[in-house]
Amino acid sequence: MYTKILIRYGELTLKGENKKDFIKTLKDNLLLYIKKDELKVEFDRAFATYSNQNLESLKFIFGISSYSPAIEVETDLEIIKQELVKFAKTKSFNSFAIASRRHDKKFDLTSNELNKVLGEQILKNFKNKSVNLTSPDIKFYIEVRDARTFIFSDYIQGLGGMPVNTAGKVLHLISGGIDSPVAANLLQKRGLKVYFINFITPPQTDKKTVEKVDQIIENLTHYQGNSLLFQINYSKVMNYLSLVSNQKYKITLMRRSFYRIAQNIAKKYEIKALSNGENLAQVASQTLESIHTISQVVDLPIFRPLLTYDKLEIIEKAKAINTFNISLIKACETCELFAPKSPVTRPNIEEALRLEKELDKLSELEDEAINLVEIKKFSLKND
Ligand code: ATP
Ligand code: MG
Repeated sequence: MYTKILIRYGELTLKGENKKDFIKTLKDNLLLYIKKDELKVEFDRAFATYSNQNLESLKFIFGISSYSPAIEVETDLEIIKQELVKFAKTKSFNSFAIASRRHDKKFDLTSNELNKVLGEQILKNFKNKSVNLTSPDIKFYIEVRDARTFIFSDYIQGLGGMPVNTAGKVLHLISGGIDSPVAANLLQKRGLKVYFINFITPPQTDKKTVEKVDQIIENLTHYQGNSLLFQINYSKVMNYLSLVSNQKYKITLMRRSFYRIAQNIAKKYEIKALSNGENLAQVASQTLESIHTISQVVDLPIFRPLLTYDKLEIIEKAKAINTFNISLIKACETCELFAPKSPVTRPNIEEALRLEKELDKLSELEDEAINLVEIKKFSLKND
């Protein structure tokens, strides 16, 4: 029955250039999912040809406030009346309301007049139906736009947020855990295109560890069309770090090293920020002292979208984006394998620097790991 999907934009407070940029980027993103000849983008709405595939894709696109499967008819009162009756016949309801909107002020009737005419039309064509303006079983929406009018009854909530790419790029440290995938999705929601970096330590980490991260990124790629993963074989650096004289600092030094490597790659790709799934005080290593000691090694900003979240809130979001079950799969993680018995929870920068001075081959090994980076590409699987 439906012929079109009417798509509404979020962040309507945007003005001028920002609004133009929003719409242009949203259009580019819609085109990753919807064929060019099935999409029309206007200043306040987009229209897609109705299909299950197009409808499904809108679940993954940030910047959309809501959307409605609709029928498109010619803007002609007699036609609108007929089509509305046909549409209403497909619905079951007792009480109803009509909500008309005129985008085209040239249309002869005002919204109120149109509501009245169409309400009468329904009453005339159906027995035992009544108008209820406060809590009707169904609301028939009529949106009159120039030569075309749209009739629909459902508002499906969109993801909101900003279209991915309006805010630039971020390099995200992704693990197979629950948190970092959720953090990545929140960054996408604010318009960032997320690039991924992951550290593995074969042979301790195996095929499963890698597959898990791949699966997580495949999932997150739904929200941005395509993704790049920089996978770093960190084994040599890690073995070297294991020689450190103060074993309690192993994890601190490993994380400092992660960020040096991440920043190096970010700068090569003109990425202006790093990000992670850290959460203040969730685990012993995520203390302010630890964050402070680790952040010192980079000059790029580090975004931590989950810093203030409760674990239960994070789990709820992980379930909503379908990464929760993937994260639960058992696989060996670099950090867990490497953890000393009692890691320092409140590290300080002086000790970290002193220990790094002892490890004089560290930067050489980090460079080697960077040069051997494996770059993996992900994109939507279109049928
Ligand atoms: P997560 O669930 O995201 O793994 P977590 O609560 O388990 O988080 P940690 O394992 O301490 O916390 O890791 C903190 C952050 O460090 C992660 O959110 C992620 O951004 C980054 N990180 C940890 N391990 C790796 C890894 N092997 N490769 C890349 N980044 C990592
Ligand atoms: Mg983890």
